Amino acid sequence: MNGKQYVEKVLEEVKKRNNGEVEFLDAVTEVMESLVPVFDKNPKFIESGILERITEPERQIFFRVPWVDDNGDVKVNRGFRIQFNSAIGPYKGGLRFHPTVNQSIVKFLGFEQIFKNSLTGLPIGGGKGGSDFDPKGKSDNEIMRFCQSFMAELYKHIGSDIDVPAGDIGVGGREIGYLYGYYKKISGQNTPGVLTGKGLTFGGSLIRTEATGYGLVYFTEEMLKANGTSFSGKDVVISGSGNVAIYAHEKATELGAKVIAMSDSSGYIVDLNGINLDVIKDLKEVKRARIKEYVNIVKDSKFVEGHRGIWEVKCDIALPCATQGEINKDSAEILVKNGVVAVSEGANMPSSLEAIKVFQSAGVLFGPAKAANAGGVACSALEMSQNSMRLSWTREEVDEKLKDIMVNIYKNSSDAAKEYEMEGNILAGANIAGFLKVAEAMHAQGIV
Ligand code: GLU
Repeated sequence: MNGKQYVEKVLEEVKKRNNGEVEFLDAVTEVMESLVPVFDKNPKFIESGILERITEPERQIFFRVPWVDDNGDVKVNRGFRIQFNSAIGPYKGGLRFHPTVNQSIVKFLGFEQIFKNSLTGLPIGGGKGGSDFDPKGKSDNEIMRFCQSFMAELYKHIGSDIDVPAGDIGVGGREIGYLYGYYKKISGQNTPGVLTGKGLTFGGSLIRTEATGYGLVYFTEEMLKANGTSFSGKDVVISGSGNVAIYAHEKATELGAKVIAMSDSSGYIVDLNGINLDVIKDLKEVKRARIKEYVNIVKDSKFVEGHRGIWEVKCDIALPCATQGEINKDSAEILVKNGVVAVSEGANMPSSLEAIKVFQSAGVLFGPAKAANAGGVACSALEMSQNSMRLSWTREEVDEKLKDIMVNIYKNSSDAAKEYEMEGNILAGANIAGFLKVAEAMHAQGIV
């Protein structure tokens, strides 16, 4: 069996077994298509059934999360934790609280996390979790009660050498604090390495909040530099206004770019003078307000309802930092028509498979999520190291390590693409480089 036949055979089995799980199947298809030449070169991976095993989670935990709202009404949500792959280290990956969370979404995120975590070069396996709970409009007390109920089940399955959750959409410092406090209470253990993204007063790492956004810009700058350009003097559109988007804005601006549009789920703002980040931070991090408030504070800016239109704003660099599926084929074509030079993904799987093809055939530089947004989880792994050593690195130390990691991810992805005769295809290179380390580890550990 050659590489192509093997990939086709396994893909067909995966489609049958996970029927209807659109996001998961898209993520698997995207990775597997890049791996054909890897199997041609390494038939041992076919013999040890790496693809059949890597596409099936090691363990999936689904559970009931009951809680009582401020009116005294009982609510029930569904909790998930997918422990996807532990070949290179403890399961590692965030928790997402959002009404769209379901089995397919958590599985696609967990699958992507395997390769992303491998690319960081740090010893972390892949996992993901979350709930269909909607934090929007909930009081602080409701959030706390929900987090406590969620942890009342999750604590049985996690540990600093087993599975280490962190944040994702809807889970930030506040939620991690409540989750950690309750973990400590019911487990009787004070092991900070069980969760990352903690507050700085109880084992958190400096730069963790900024890490995904900063890392995205470090990676993208590397990709731009390798192609004779840089962020300097460029107009940038960033979707989203969570911590990935905010800190991508901060770092891109520091490198001389101008961020002219940002969004939230209700719509997007355009400010051709450059979006004032202090205003966004105050609205989003302090007031938890909608982005449209920006136009009441900064004159000469505008708000447009609906978030997809943001890709019609003419720009040189697009950084999708909101959520999956936010750039479809049409949006990709508009970006290309408007002369976009680079698209680099801060969110997980924001571009559809068709959109990626549009970028690639137009020669747009494309930074795939699992490489471009790996800075967050990389910094989480640095937090785990500091927790194990019981010491804290300075801001400069963490930032320097983060930068080195992102530069290496670009280099390894670009080298792998070259080695497998797909020079410049960073998507294929990232899939191959991320896969090879996990596959070698799985192969060496036997059929488990
Ligand atoms: N949720 C982030 C991601 O998608 C970070 C996960 C972590 O820090 O474990 O990679």
